[in-house]
Amino acid sequence: MMRFTFLLALIVANSVVLAAEVSGVRVWTAPDHTRLVFDTTAPVEHKVFTLDKPDRLVIDIASAAIADGFHVGDDVSDKHLTGLRHAQQPDGALRVVLDIKQTVRPKTFVLKPNASYGHMLVVDLYPVEATRTPRVAKSTTDIERARDVVVAVDAGHGGEDPGAAGKRYRTDEKLITLEIARRVKRLIDQQPGMRAVLTRDGDYYVGLRKRMALARDQRADLFVSIHADAFRDKRVRGSSVYVLSRRGASSEAARWLAEKENASDLVGGVSLEDKDPVLASVLLALSQSATQHASLSAAGRVYNELGRVGKVHGRRVQQAGFLVLKSPDIPSMLVETGFISNPDEERNLRDPGYQERLAKAIMRGVQDFFEEAPPPGTLLAERKKTPIRHTIARGDTLSEIADRYQVSVALLRQTNDIRSDNLIRIGQVLVIPDS
Ligand SMILES: [Zn+2]
Repeated sequence: MMRFTFLLALIVANSVVLAAEVSGVRVWTAPDHTRLVFDTTAPVEHKVFTLDKPDRLVIDIASAAIADGFHVGDDVSDKHLTGLRHAQQPDGALRVVLDIKQTVRPKTFVLKPNASYGHMLVVDLYPVEATRTPRVAKSTTDIERARDVVVAVDAGHGGEDPGAAGKRYRTDEKLITLEIARRVKRLIDQQPGMRAVLTRDGDYYVGLRKRMALARDQRADLFVSIHADAFRDKRVRGSSVYVLSRRGASSEAARWLAEKENASDLVGGVSLEDKDPVLASVLLALSQSATQHASLSAAGRVYNELGRVGKVHGRRVQQAGFLVLKSPDIPSMLVETGFISNPDEERNLRDPGYQERLAKAIMRGVQDFFEEAPPPGTLLAERKKTPIRHTIARGDTLSEIADRYQVSVALLRQTNDIRSDNLIRIGQVLVIPDS
């Protein structure tokens, strides 16, 4: 009997000590928060509380211990964090204390293993003052001045979500998507009347709904998500472009309606809060079908441009239920730039020259779409509406005028029906064609 009790106690003690080991920690700094990811050998239970003077965050991980050879990622100090300590508690818990620079609102959760990592405990630190959203009054001039078209460029994955991985060079998708997204942004910013914003500009994770919210906050006219595919069969290659399938869109509409705080201002500024549910769903469906139409049109142009860079996978734009494409009011597309699982394409995707060609193709497709159908109130719409005119002054020649507006003399002649140079006169008004 004695012996049996002793054995039982030993088993309990063992299971307490061996439940989980914390083998490493990584820190990702996002613009609005800091994320710590603890690698654990098994799923863990945990408690979190804060202490002040000085500010600290305490994480008690039940039945856990630090693994031999515990590894601290690059550096645990960042803009919110100065250090990390740990100690074993008498009850078998592992206590981790984070020294923090200011009061934070912590958010914690556990993640199941993925292709790259095992079990994880995630600790997000949101600085308390950064959670208040500033409201800036809009001045009249802001509203009246023609604005730039805004493109939200979304680099897929990031942080502890590496995305797909190449086999030959061990390339992480998250790094490729960021490189290409940054190139697309730079190219778009160079175009008059167009501006791009990135949903992430570093190696950290941004939730899918957060990406959509960022695009909406920036009043984006288009959302382009950049990815690189992987497939079991490494022979499969080529880029592809996706838009949201209709089925995905309709189920999401219900969701948007349920989240009333999100649903206002979605239908061209018409608030849905005071509408009855049936009318609201009709308004949303109308907005969605226009969005769907625009998404397809924009995606088709990007698909065509990508076809000039290399092989495209699939005969046309494809449709799927990607969550990140589900904004009911912002035309959205997802570009799979290639198969990272194909060794040749993995090599291409790492090559800066190839990245630039892909980025140019995406930019051209987007530009094409907006020049064809510029949103009202934008510079591009203004430019389309009122062609540039030039009144001929003394000494002007056609070639000089053509030079100044960067159009060809032939096109200038053709547009204004001028057969020879001596047929222009002072005071005559020329229409300058779009180059
Ligand atoms: Zn991806």
